[in-house]
Amino acid sequence: MMEQFIEIKANNPGSLLFYRMGDFYELFFQDAVDASRALGITLTKRGQHMGQDIPMCGVPVHAADDYLQKLIALGFRVAVCEQVEDPAEAKKRGSKSVVKRDVVRLVTPGTITEEKLLVASESNYLMALARIRGSSEAQMALAWIDISTGVFRLAETDQSRLLADILRIDPRELILPDTMFHDPELKPVFDVLGKVAVPQPAVLFDSASAEGRIARYFGVGTLDGFGTFSRSELAAAAAAVAYVEKTQIAERPPLGRPERESGASTLFIDPATRGNLELTRTLSGDREGTLLKAIDRTVTGGGARLLAERLMSPLTDPDRINRRLDSISFLLDEPGLCSELRSSLKHVPDMPRALSRLALDRGGPRDLGAILAGLEAARGVTAFLDKAMLPEELSEALADLKALPAQLETMLGGMLAQDLPLLKRDGGFLAEGANAELDEVRALRDQSRKVIAGLQLQYAEETGIKSLKIKHNNVLGYFIEVTAGNAGAMTDTPEGRARFIHRQTMASAMRFTTTELADLETRIANAADKALTIELEAFDTMVKAVTDEAEVIKAGARALSVVDVAAGLAMLAEEWDYRRPLVDNSRMFHIEGGRHPVVEQALRKQSAGPFIANDCDLSPHDGPQSREGYGALWLLTGPNMGGKSTFLRQNALIAILAQMGSFVPAATAHVGIVDRLFSRVGASDDLARGRSTFMVEMVETAAILNQATDRSLVILDEIGRGTATFDGLSIAWAAVEHLHEANRCRGLFATHFHELTVLSEKLDRLSNATMKVKEWDGEVIFLHEVGPGAADRSYGIQVARLAGLPDSVVARARDVLTKLEDSDRKNPASQLIDDLPLFQVAVRKEEAKRAGPSKVEEALSAINPDDMTPREALDALYALKKQL
Ligand code: ADP
Repeated sequence: MMEQFIEIKANNPGSLLFYRMGDFYELFFQDAVDASRALGITLTKRGQHMGQDIPMCGVPVHAADDYLQKLIALGFRVAVCEQVEDPAEAKKRGSKSVVKRDVVRLVTPGTITEEKLLVASESNYLMALARIRGSSEAQMALAWIDISTGVFRLAETDQSRLLADILRIDPRELILPDTMFHDPELKPVFDVLGKVAVPQPAVLFDSASAEGRIARYFGVGTLDGFGTFSRSELAAAAAAVAYVEKTQIAERPPLGRPERESGASTLFIDPATRGNLELTRTLSGDREGTLLKAIDRTVTGGGARLLAERLMSPLTDPDRINRRLDSISFLLDEPGLCSELRSSLKHVPDMPRALSRLALDRGGPRDLGAILAGLEAARGVTAFLDKAMLPEELSEALADLKALPAQLETMLGGMLAQDLPLLKRDGGFLAEGANAELDEVRALRDQSRKVIAGLQLQYAEETGIKSLKIKHNNVLGYFIEVTAGNAGAMTDTPEGRARFIHRQTMASAMRFTTTELADLETRIANAADKALTIELEAFDTMVKAVTDEAEVIKAGARALSVVDVAAGLAMLAEEWDYRRPLVDNSRMFHIEGGRHPVVEQALRKQSAGPFIANDCDLSPHDGPQSREGYGALWLLTGPNMGGKSTFLRQNALIAILAQMGSFVPAATAHVGIVDRLFSRVGASDDLARGRSTFMVEMVETAAILNQATDRSLVILDEIGRGTATFDGLSIAWAAVEHLHEANRCRGLFATHFHELTVLSEKLDRLSNATMKVKEWDGEVIFLHEVGPGAADRSYGIQVARLAGLPDSVVARARDVLTKLEDSDRKNPASQLIDDLPLFQVAVRKEEAKRAGPSKVEEALSAINPDDMTPREALDALYALKKQL
């Protein structure tokens, strides 16, 4: 047996091997050591290998899902090895013969389907990354599959946006060729992803055989009907498919056809921004306190997943965005419709995932129950939604809902019992009246049980033993039990001796059987066998009926998610007074009465006063550059704790909400499509990668200055804080100039360098704004109100006092500050504006220098005045002058 184990283990490196032995999965050697530690289960030993004890531990098969869940969460991969023949077969080959076993499935984070292992509100993507090196630039593509729902998508990418694209989809597992995994240029990306990135042999990503592999999976001759794909997309898709085959082995999950996503159709959010804005996870990794949590009012797993997907990938096409907004507007205009829809939606189970399990032959009666409940709930939704003048998105959803198969619902409804067991082998899931033969067998079984109850009475009377009982256990089946003291009375007559056959002697009891009882026993066992056979047949019939309609059911489930998301966002809008944003292709960004969606809710929860709404207008306005239609920049000053970060983030979040197709927390909002969103907010050390706060800040700032376009929105908070004052000020200064002159984006720039506010005199699209404060009796009061102008002071010392710095330190700091301010007044940095040439001028000089020496310069450097006569010198001077 150990030989067999070692051979199978060698074929599955990198996975823990769950080796089936009876009712347990056993683990051996290092696997056992690792698993026992990870799961907190006892490590034992079994036999020896090369003179050493073999470590072993095991988990019971019926509880395997719980253990798998833990192991997968910890980043392990598990190969499940089952017995693939009847042990009786092995015996026939010889007494020492080992039962044949084989790995039937690899369980990896990206390829799970069990309800227990999945999070209802999250997609579970397996992603493949491929690269093709052509004659020109390398091409990269991503393909991602959720086998629990069948979603299959593709997109091209490139090195600069690779990490952003991966994080947008947030896969559980990313497979890539080992050659790429070890490419030093890409190392930073895979460092961030950690255990999610799993290198695979490069042959899996071979583009030459890619098309054939995909076509074979879908059982088609060619992919022509699927659309056109680039070579790198095909390679990624084929690798994903190959990995699914490799992990699922015997089964083929039903995948949707690969759909292509173009990068330009979604708002690009770079990885740092995604993290900073806490869209789906806070900086500390929590779900609580995120934008998603604040806006999620969905009531189904599918709806929650769709909402998260939309939030992660906001759109850039105003038409598509407005289609979504139309749905919300419609629902808000129909009183009561939202709650009606939601009351039906609440009963919608996770249909796509149940469907996948059924198709993979891993489903149970409850998965059939889920399909039935889904179909019933869908009927309710359909009835409520069937209205005139439905907007496009909802009317498409309605059409998909109407297409759901009524006859399947009738069939399942007629066949499934009320209470369903988890496993089909437990039986009892077919309803009474569903199958006449089954009803007969069950009646026989029930009748036999009654007969047994009658026998107990009869035997007690015959023997005169009142305490005589007929019991049942798995070893003996039905038996008669009497106390040891009464045992004599059973067999002291010849009739008794002939009738009661002794089976077992216990310490305090004696057990017997009779031929009648054994007969009944056989009848009941046969009936149970027969019943189970009938039920299992019916199960297969139902599964086939369901999987035959897989596409229609999937479309219906998707429609329910769409309705759920729209209804949820409408509820949110009503609850928090969100308004419909005007979204178009302009470069406007005009928010009136904007609020921070997460802080607003947190303040109300803590009864901490109202959130102060603020305007923000970055729309193009008058001025030489603005006439070309470029948006504006605001330079925001104000004390710490004044609300600068909150204001910056709320505007970024409003842009995201608007472009994902949601109403927004503002009185009015006009958002011209943002193509890329960048933010540098808050300082976080990335010590794991050996970068200081300042280094992180500069890397992120560099990314922004290099990538922001004139349609981007940039949010910069306190650039240059992590270094010496003059360094910091200089960097912040240059960054603002670059944003204004080179990127020409819309943006908000918060700073504590008040010196920067003079820049607005030179840069015509830059205006100053400040967080208002009131000073009262030496205290600062934060009004959290944004107004035009610049802050005159930082109030740092007041804030320090509020924080509880000792009085002596506060007083001393005041003295130091007065001295510093005096010296600054004599030579203020703001004078710089007159002394420094503007960014473009400075840049031009810099560029000229880089362009190399001019002809005059070359001629000049060729001259040696010491070797010239006065006459020659004069001639040379004339010659030089001519060259100008
Ligand atoms: P800063 O970035 O200027 O240091 P923050 O944005 O971190 O300030 O805000 C400080 C605190 O003030 C936040 O914790 C928040 O609760 C509160 N706050 C900020 N803006 C508002 C607002 N508009 N209305 C009410 N409270 C606010």
